[in-house]
This record gives sequence, C-alpha cells and structure tokens, in this order.
Amino acid sequence: MPIKSIFFDMDNTLIDFFKFKEVSSKAAIVAMKKSGLKIDSKKAFRILWNLYFEHGFENREILQKFLEKVSGDQNNYKILAAGIMAYRKARMNAICTYPKVKCVLRQLAKKYLLVLVTDAPAVKAWIRLTSVGMQNKFSSVFTLTETGKRKSSGVPFTNAMKTLKLKPNEVLVVGDSMSHDIIPAKRLGMKTCLATYGRLKNQKSDITPDYRIRKITDVTKILM
Ligand SMILES: [Mg+2]
Repeated sequence: MPIKSIFFDMDNTLIDFFKFKEVSSKAAIVAMKKSGLKIDSKKAFRILWNLYFEHGFENREILQKFLEKVSGDQNNYKILAAGIMAYRKARMNAICTYPKVKCVLRQLAKKYLLVLVTDAPAVKAWIRLTSVGMQNKFSSVFTLTETGKRKSSGVPFTNAMKTLKLKPNEVLVVGDSMSHDIIPAKRLGMKTCLATYGRLKNQKSDITPDYRIRKITDVTKILM
C-alpha cells in the first residue's frame, strides 16, 4: 500500500524544542540571579532541566518548583517575576525549526497529505507553529486538546486517521520519541521513522522503527 500521508511530530522533530527551552531557561536563570538568587548558573540549569524531565516540559509552574528546590521558597515573587519575564522575552527569539524543515515540507506537500500530531495543548501548538511560520504547512493539526490523550496511548493517531479516512498502512509517522511516536504507531500498523537528531537519550526498545533519519531532509530519500 503506498504512503498517502505523513504524520509529523512537532517538538524535537520539526521545531528544535530543546534548544528553545534551553535558551529561555538560561535567560530566566540569569534574571533570577540578578534579582538576588544565589546559585551557580550551571548548577541551576542542571536542576531546572531535571525538573522539566520530572514534571514535563509543558509544566506551567516549573520556575516555582525550581525556586522551592533551590531556595526553599517558591513565593519569592520578585525573583519569580524576573525569571518569568526573562523566559518569555527570550522565548520569542529562541524558537526555531531545524534547518531546511520548511523546504522539506514544501516538497512533500506536492505528493502527500501533511498532518501534524502533537502532545502539546492546542494553544501552545499553534503559538509555536505560528512563531516559526509553519501555521499553513499542514492539512490538519491534531493536538492534545482534541482527545485529551497522549500519543503514547495511540488515541491521537487513531483519531487523526479516522478523521482523515486513512488506513494505518497509508501513513508514515515521523517523530523523535520511541514511546510517544514509534511504538504506538507501529502497534497500530503504521509505518514509522525515528528522527534520531531529536536529542532524546536512552530510548531502548524491542520495537524497531522502519526508518531512522539523522536530519529532516532524509525523509525525502525514504519517500521519493
Ligand atoms: Mg517530539
């Protein structure tokens, strides 16, 4: 069965999400230090980064958790506000796609139905897409908001296929996560492609993706 559609993951597959989080987080730390927080910058970043892994990268109160952890006081509002403002300011400029993403999407759109399936909530997903100028690149965008279920459950993929009247073997799923992209998609009978540049480590699994790519431009080699 030929591939008709490509389901792309967003963060760490199309958007360099970790870079964006790293730059924004470092800016927040600099600002909090300027406002009186006493901590070594590198140590602070390590702690904050671990908190992201512990509580999720979409956690809205991560700086509060960070302040609680490093100073025992999550209610130091002067420091907190400095961190939040610096984070927001840096975020605008830090968000970017991996090189050549838009070019690859333009090429693929001539032949395939391009779909975005992300675990980010709808507003965040659309803000990120719009920030990098990708808001018109997909025929459909499916976010956490529609089903309330994460991709690891397989539900967002099933929902997208049902909506678009696609069969599993007509879809290629491209993503950087074994647990959220490759494993659920493979279980559903979809074709899978692991984006190994996404920087997620320790992704051991018995399941093997159909393809692996080291840069986004390699997708075209698989398909064309
Ligand atoms: Mg991802």
